[in-house]
Amino acid sequence: MTTKARVLLVEDDPLQADVTKEILQNNGYDVLWAQDGVSAIKTVKTERPDIVLLDVILPGLDGYEVCRWLKMEESTKGIPVIMLTVKKELSDKISGLQIGADDYLPKPYNELELNARIYASLRTKALQDELRMKNRQLEELLGKVEHMAITDALTGLYNRRRFHDVLTKEFERARRYATPFSLVMLDVDHFKKVNDTYGHHVGDVVLKEVANIIPQSIREVDTAARYGGEEFMIILPNTEKERAVHVAERMRESIAVNTFQGVGCPVTVSIGLCGLPDDILDNEDRLLLCADFAMYRAKQNGRNRVESADGQDIKNLK
Ligand code: GH3
Ligand code: MG
Ligand code: MG
Ligand code: MG
Repeated sequence: MTTKARVLLVEDDPLQADVTKEILQNNGYDVLWAQDGVSAIKTVKTERPDIVLLDVILPGLDGYEVCRWLKMEESTKGIPVIMLTVKKELSDKISGLQIGADDYLPKPYNELELNARIYASLRTKALQDELRMKNRQLEELLGKVEHMAITDALTGLYNRRRFHDVLTKEFERARRYATPFSLVMLDVDHFKKVNDTYGHHVGDVVLKEVANIIPQSIREVDTAARYGGEEFMIILPNTEKERAVHVAERMRESIAVNTFQGVGCPVTVSIGLCGLPDDILDNEDRLLLCADFAMYRAKQNGRNRVESADGQDIKNLK
């Protein structure tokens, strides 16, 4: 069953109001009645009619003012307003439409025309509502897609694609303004053994926990991302290498002392880092290679440790 559309009739003349009410009721509308401008505004706010038929000449606030008010107010501006008036001058019509009335009907009106105009306004409103709703849904969907495109599904950190975008931007900025910059690469130690011993699911939980711990040691302006399986990257703009070593140490320590769900032994990470200024690290590939080199140095030197490297270390690689 469809509910009846509710029409607010704003008309100061009770006789005219009775005639119009009857026409509207006979055509299947629920009718509310307001006799002056102020009570019209109150009724719109409390009753939320689907449409307003608004007489222009009213005691106190006139129809133009009521219309202006309704169209200014965020919560009521979507409600169609049809101005009803004895004024037939074109300039009156124009001023009504200019202040936001949706339609205009000169009195005395023809019953068929009145109904046709109400019907048309309600249909336009319904289409506008539908469009607004679809737009909202699309915007929501777009937001989700955008989020998914830059997020690692398992850990909720940025994904590799986003990492590269941020790296490009920050590396470029650091070079242009000659500011310090550090890149940190973190790899879970003997992670294959975690999987083999406790199962892949527990392995996933460990990755999620590591991903939760990493951001606790960094600033808002830093970027943490999952780079691959059990490898994470952290971009530290405006950060000297010595400072990055401290940050990395804090991460390493936090992970080493953490109790991981379902794992009977400590989980540790090896961390490698490099940074600018460094004349040899003049492109992103070299920067990444250098961080990777430092990380493997940490593996070779016993794991659960932080090592750094610089351009000289990789000069002859690749
Ligand atoms: P190392 O200390 O030298 O880094 O040893 P490792 O075992 O951590 O390194 P290796 O590269 O041999 O193994 C990494 C393992 O990580 C292998 C792979 O199955 C596992 N892995 C990669 N991605 C995921 C994932 O999303 N979930 C789980 N549970 N395991 C993953
Ligand atoms: Mg690895
Ligand atoms: Mg490995
Ligand atoms: Mg590993």
